[in-house]
Amino acid sequence: MESLQSDEVDRAAECLVRAHHVIALTGAGLSVESGIPPFRGPGGIWTRYGEPPMDGYQRFLEDPRAAWEERLNPSGPMRELWETLAAARPNPGHLALVELEDIGILRCTITQNVDDLHRLAGSRALLEIHGNATLIRCIQCVARFPRSAIDFASLPPRCPTCDGILKSDTVAFGEPIPPDVLGRCFEEAELADCMIVAGTSATVYPAAQFPNTIQERGGDLVEVNPYETELTALCQHTLRGTAAELLPQIVERVKTLRVGL
Ligand SMILES: [Zn+2]
Repeated sequence: MESLQSDEVDRAAECLVRAHHVIALTGAGLSVESGIPPFRGPGGIWTRYGEPPMDGYQRFLEDPRAAWEERLNPSGPMRELWETLAAARPNPGHLALVELEDIGILRCTITQNVDDLHRLAGSRALLEIHGNATLIRCIQCVARFPRSAIDFASLPPRCPTCDGILKSDTVAFGEPIPPDVLGRCFEEAELADCMIVAGTSATVYPAAQFPNTIQERGGDLVEVNPYETELTALCQHTLRGTAAELLPQIVERVKTLRVGL
């Protein structure tokens, strides 16, 4: 069994080395080993506290001041979530992707995670489709700011550039994906001939579309996930295990192969 897995690591690494434009798509499973529970499933925040309202963006627009008061003084599940995010640190899966970027294999990481762990790990070419919980975004001009740059004396805070209303960069339910990020994701998916799909079943739009785009154009999909997903049948390479365990193994193999070139 172990040698089958090791063969599959070898084949996935060969696939990455052969490809011209490798990108990665990551999701909640990658952050589990950094101590961040998934939203759904056993131990998930929403499983324990109930699903959040599906019209979060509409609620924000109707009363941004109330939304900010709750954001700055969170209670219940949101308080638990913010405390967990603040304490989380990147795991070997995040660091392996940075190393792949450093050695010129990985061109871009698209993540559904808002936890800032890719950035903390050192990823540079990073597209956060659901935003970043540590940033604040203007809903008018889409400029993003660190919290320290914003004056919260009166709520809702206003954009220093255009005076538009500011909101957390995290994409709320019912909120469109910011067009700047989404456009770049589609460009990367069009260029890619290989995608690592790590810790996500990629069933939610728009993330669901990127593996399909690559596969339809004859590219390869490398899945790293402890569980079978709806994507598994489409993948050329499937590695069963966590990203924290398997991505470093793939990187080590990639480095050995590149020395031989
Ligand atoms: Zn603005």
